[in-house]
Amino acid sequence: MSESRKLRMGMVGGGPGAFIGPVHRIAAELDGKSALVAGAFSQTAERSRAAGKSFGIDPERAYADYRSMIEAERKRTDPIDFVVIATPNHLHLPVAVAALEAGIPVMSDKPATATYEEALALEAAVAKSGLPYGLTHTYAGYAMVREARSMCAEGKLGAIRKVAVEYFQGWMTRQIETTGHKQAAWRADPAQSGAGGSIGDIGTHAFHLLEYVTGIEVTGINAMLRSVVPGRLLDDDCNAFLRMANGATGTLACSQVAAGEINELRLRIYGENGSLEWRQMDPNRLVVKWLDGPEEIRHAAAGYLSNDARIVGRVPAGHPEGYLEAFAVLYREFADALIAWKEGQPNALPATLPGIVAGVRGMRFIERAIESNRKQAWVEF
Ligand code: NAD
Repeated sequence: MSESRKLRMGMVGGGPGAFIGPVHRIAAELDGKSALVAGAFSQTAERSRAAGKSFGIDPERAYADYRSMIEAERKRTDPIDFVVIATPNHLHLPVAVAALEAGIPVMSDKPATATYEEALALEAAVAKSGLPYGLTHTYAGYAMVREARSMCAEGKLGAIRKVAVEYFQGWMTRQIETTGHKQAAWRADPAQSGAGGSIGDIGTHAFHLLEYVTGIEVTGINAMLRSVVPGRLLDDDCNAFLRMANGATGTLACSQVAAGEINELRLRIYGENGSLEWRQMDPNRLVVKWLDGPEEIRHAAAGYLSNDARIVGRVPAGHPEGYLEAFAVLYREFADALIAWKEGQPNALPATLPGIVAGVRGMRFIERAIESNRKQAWVEF
């Protein structure tokens, strides 16, 4: 970009009462590189206007639907630089494709699409457009996740032999989707959530975290999915065995009916020399257990961390950063990549920022888990 200005973003989703839309706005604006200027925030023009007002944007740029937003923004002299997708899953593909076909880069929330077939269509659309496409697997933005990733890449643990990732929540323990609960209603509806229930909503985060940190692909899965709550149309609980490309094995469990759990995402990785443990609810610490040495606790923002971990911090050690800041790390990397691309450099996201490859992997995980559960057998990736 010739002038020094903030990137202008247009959001789809994030209307009144929405969970993640406002998080995207805060995260994108945290480092002063992007600003929300437009949106099609809800299913009705009235609610979209109300959301636009609450975000303090020009009322003219709170659109009735995403197609009108793309159409109108293209005609402006100060159009949006990228589209943020924060809607229920079934809209991720159509919104992303509409933006990409109009020449607008995309930052989407996960899962990338509603089904694996859609993910392949999106992958083709991203490739055809040649535009930046980022995916907000939030947990990739944490300093201590990046420290764990660096330790694996440097072989500090030796060969990785066993992995365990679990993501437990309890908020869907009762059938709240029939009581008017906004977030539960679409998540329990296959038409809006897509093929996966808990595996799509939180299993994809666990799966991504595992491959992201270890740098090793999952090659086989044997999954048992259940709908524990009577009448629920999608899975709300999953236990799976995994095979990894290097011969390691592991487990992935996720549940939204683990009563009492809030957001218990936990990753453990065991190598020949020792192991790593990271918990999302205690995100500024990474526990390292050595076979032949004392246990270590590494702290976010400490000077001894790897470069990848150190550069994401904004405040000195001992001053906790969390969900919003991790989310903002992804936005900072996306903004930097977008600015570089606008200035004529090749379209390339940093390896630390999830994109379309991670999106397709996540959808493949959902598809494979469902197939394995159906066959009650191991399936290959
Ligand atoms: P939500 O129900 O709270 O919000 C969805 C918003 O989309 C609502 O404002 C709704 O009005 C709007 N919407 C629906 N149809 C629309 C349309 N046609 N046009 C414009 N807006 C429309 O849901 P949520 O919990 O915020 O989840 C949204 C997405 O974010 C999902 O894909 C979910 O998987 C993802 N998510 C990601 C994280 C994360 O940590 N990265 C966390 C939560 C949710």
